[in-house]
Amino acid sequence: MTPVGEAGAPAARQPWRGVIEEYREFLPVSEATPVVTLLEGGTPLVPAPRLSERVGARVLLKVEGANPTGSFKDRGMTVAISKAAEQGAKAVVCASTGNTSASAAAFAARAGLTCAVLIPEGHIALGKLAQALIHGAKVLQVRGNFDQALTIVRELGERAPVTVVNSVNPFRIEGQKSGAFELVDALGDAPDVHCIPVGNAGNITAYWKGYLEYREAGRSTRLPRMLGFQAAGAAPIVAGHPIERPETVATAIRIGNPASWYGATAAAAESGGGIAAVTDEQILAAYRFLATEESVFCEPASAASVAGLLATGLPDGLGPAPTVVCVLTGHGLKDPDIAISQISVPTAIDAELGAVLAELAL
Ligand SMILES: *Cc1c(COP(=O)(O)O)cnc(C)c1O
Repeated sequence: MTPVGEAGAPAARQPWRGVIEEYREFLPVSEATPVVTLLEGGTPLVPAPRLSERVGARVLLKVEGANPTGSFKDRGMTVAISKAAEQGAKAVVCASTGNTSASAAAFAARAGLTCAVLIPEGHIALGKLAQALIHGAKVLQVRGNFDQALTIVRELGERAPVTVVNSVNPFRIEGQKSGAFELVDALGDAPDVHCIPVGNAGNITAYWKGYLEYREAGRSTRLPRMLGFQAAGAAPIVAGHPIERPETVATAIRIGNPASWYGATAAAAESGGGIAAVTDEQILAAYRFLATEESVFCEPASAASVAGLLATGLPDGLGPAPTVVCVLTGHGLKDPDIAISQISVPTAIDAELGAVLAELAL
């Protein structure tokens, strides 16, 4: 039934207001905080029938590529940039494998702040670089990897009048925990299992914090098992030590010394979950499976969540008909080069019907 307003006219349905207004009571903001938002969050939770069949559970995909800049980073950035603006910052800076810079650039522009980003030269997907540039960030390509860029950015934050908006900024984690709130709001309770890619480990830390806070507030009755997945060539948590030269096709998780290492291991241990590694081959197979079988185009790093679920299967001790959520962290269009490399190049034919019919074998 359509809700009816006081005068008998249909009441307007409240549109999504962005992460801060939707979850204000759980976030470190006050009336004095200028809300800098692009109406991030409120992303689709898409059922995955074919994946469900393969895994033997009800699997749902949290499509974070539907955020304004195409990744979950917007959830944390709305809070980090709003707080930076509240505190009178003039400039923000971050190190990035790509999506943080895209998001920081967009939200900084919205707030009228200068934005500088340090990215590892040659290891950032084309779409992400385009975003940082078009939103007007000062982009510096560092001859080094993400971990080295982050070390410089942290020093910069101590020496220069700039706010660091990497996930070492606690406001990022605060915003990102809204993903867990949305899942509980959509499902009526926490899922049984939560699968997520792990790079710098801010997101798994944030989701776990969100699940804990929501249960504490009586919004849910239980907690999920947290399963985090690193790329095999960049799996410091699995190895138990930093990786000096991390390598993986999944550039968003090409990180050898995660800033939120402890947050990730705590989430895994406290929830009865774990952190495991998946190979680039498994990541790319899941990436293609999601696109061809579930019609969801995510970036390679995102597919690590599904690759991990397929490789490790469900954890022991779940009840019947468990619900599994896989977070697909970013949009496939971010990294067109990888997509093209995974398919055969389209055939060129003469511009005539006969040639089309012959080629399609119809
Ligand atoms: C940032 C990012 C990750 C990794 O998230 P962390 O919080 O660094 O663990 C995974 N996938 C995508 C698409 C990302 O942008």
